[in-house]
Amino acid sequence: MPKTIKKIAVLTSGGDSPGMNAAIRSVVRTCAYHNVECVGVYRGYEGLIDGEFEVLDARSVKGIINKGGTFLKSARSKEFRTVEGRKKAYENIVKAEIDGLVVIGGDGSFTGAMIFNQEFDFPVMGIPGTIDNDIVGTSHTLGFDTALNTVVDAIDKIRDTASSHNRLFFVEVMGRDVGHIALNVGIAGGAEEILIPEEDLGLERLVDSLNRSRKSGKSSSIVVVAEGDKIGKNIFELKDYVDENMEGYDVRVSVLGHMQRGGAPSCFDRVLASRMGVKAVESLLEGKSNYMVGLINNIMELTPLENAIKGKTKINLELLRVSDIMST
Ligand code: ATP
Repeated sequence: MPKTIKKIAVLTSGGDSPGMNAAIRSVVRTCAYHNVECVGVYRGYEGLIDGEFEVLDARSVKGIINKGGTFLKSARSKEFRTVEGRKKAYENIVKAEIDGLVVIGGDGSFTGAMIFNQEFDFPVMGIPGTIDNDIVGTSHTLGFDTALNTVVDAIDKIRDTASSHNRLFFVEVMGRDVGHIALNVGIAGGAEEILIPEEDLGLERLVDSLNRSRKSGKSSSIVVVAEGDKIGKNIFELKDYVDENMEGYDVRVSVLGHMQRGGAPSCFDRVLASRMGVKAVESLLEGKSNYMVGLINNIMELTPLENAIKGKTKINLELLRVSDIMST
């Protein structure tokens, strides 16, 4: 029989994403609903090691559902990667009489949670919080939808200036290993081409496509480039290549950077965060452990952390085809 859970801790770890506050709020309020105590841990695993805990009740999380970032702060903890660090964390958890842990973060944070569970047989539950949407076991990670809206808004603004000057803009968006953001915002922002890590478009095809687009009468062009795209070593080299190999283009680069992680969470992310928090707490209370909660076919499901970490998300081929047709 698993131990009855009377106190649950929640932390945010790794890169922050919009919706993390809404997820903390949901965890805290679901605990309150079930008469379970809830403890917030500051600065991710760092706070677990240093014992930076604060008891949270339903009222402590008022006014945060609409706020970006995470009020518990996030961190990357080197010490938690060591056995000694995790032992310190466990000792603090025992001292504080915590019976279960909800980790809001990405695959690195889940790896840490899984190891912690294996070493101390301690109940853990993951909520996928990352804008990259690169975790298996959920159609949407927390923050992905908000990031898409933020980036599309930026592309719309870049388009205004691009068309006023007949310019070609390379716009770099986040996505070192996956092109989910690039592909979606490329379609939504009317990009002429989308360069992603999963596909090698080839420089020649890019030049052909830009030439075609100019011949067809387009006055400006936007190419969305994921950070980890295959053809350019980086976006500035792409610009140099086009400068050298195509005449008459006024080429500019815009790297959107960390603004993609900020901002108020979208309605979709607030609802998703609320659903994920409820599922995470109630699953722990049912005696489940070592899972990640996720959205599959619009139903909240559990995926073993091991599968969520190991799996690789696939690019949506239908979206690729749509983007090809739209750039005609
Ligand atoms: P993002 O997707 O934004 O990068 P993430 O959760 O993948 O988020 P990481 O920096 O990879 O971010 O991991 C967050 C923290 O999880 C690390 O700083 C570390 O404390 C812990 N962690 C990651 N991998 C391990 C591991 N193998 N063993 C123990 N802890 C780990």
